[in-house]
Amino acid sequence: MAASDYKGPAFDSSELKELKAKVVNACLILDREGITDGFGHVSVRIPEQSALLTIAQVSPGCAALDKLVLLAFDGNYLGGAQPAPYEWPIHACIMKARPDVNSVCHTHSKWSALFSVLKKGLRPAHMYGRFLPVGGAPIYPNAGLITSVERGNALAETLKDGAATLLRAHGDAVVGASVEQAILRTVQLAFLGELAHLAAVHGGPDYLTEGELATFAGDRSFPARPWEYFLTRLGARRV
Ligand SMILES: [Zn+2]
Repeated sequence: MAASDYKGPAFDSSELKELKAKVVNACLILDREGITDGFGHVSVRIPEQSALLTIAQVSPGCAALDKLVLLAFDGNYLGGAQPAPYEWPIHACIMKARPDVNSVCHTHSKWSALFSVLKKGLRPAHMYGRFLPVGGAPIYPNAGLITSVERGNALAETLKDGAATLLRAHGDAVVGASVEQAILRTVQLAFLGELAHLAAVHGGPDYLTEGELATFAGDRSFPARPWEYFLTRLGARRV
């Protein structure tokens, strides 16, 4: 979609103010919680427009309101800072394939990176894993960055209708109905990875069965409580 065909809210419009702040805070949270290093990005869908708000080429821990970009799903620039992240197809292709997804987080979390190269993958050994299938997060099997629509579509195909996928020797892509949900799941995915890693010292986890996973309360679309907690922990960095 060319910029001239875009009918959604302009990058500088007051309509996007709240979402921009949410994306920046989401990035700062991932940094504060020790999930991201110098890489990774967060996006949010701009409702009913084929457009994407995401972080430009900046570390999540340095995210700021003037370091965001508005992109069409085909990668066309619609406003904000430049350049867009090289791996913008992660966000665009998943959102195109998944109308239920309003936010995507991509990180190189060490826990996701670790389990992305282990044969057994990352299976839920704790109730936080209720957003994962009992067999674990699917793993996108191809090495290399997701810098093309072809790779983005293949990643979306690996994710299917799931909430998270690992990327081989790379990291993860986690989705949510909201930014809050995508962030919570990303933090919880790292928790699950660390837990499984620690459990290996004790002979390995006795993983949850499908029935056991189902007994835990649902995975909320707009988890207000942990979001408030994460924001509080940002202190003065919060925007
Ligand atoms: Zn990456």
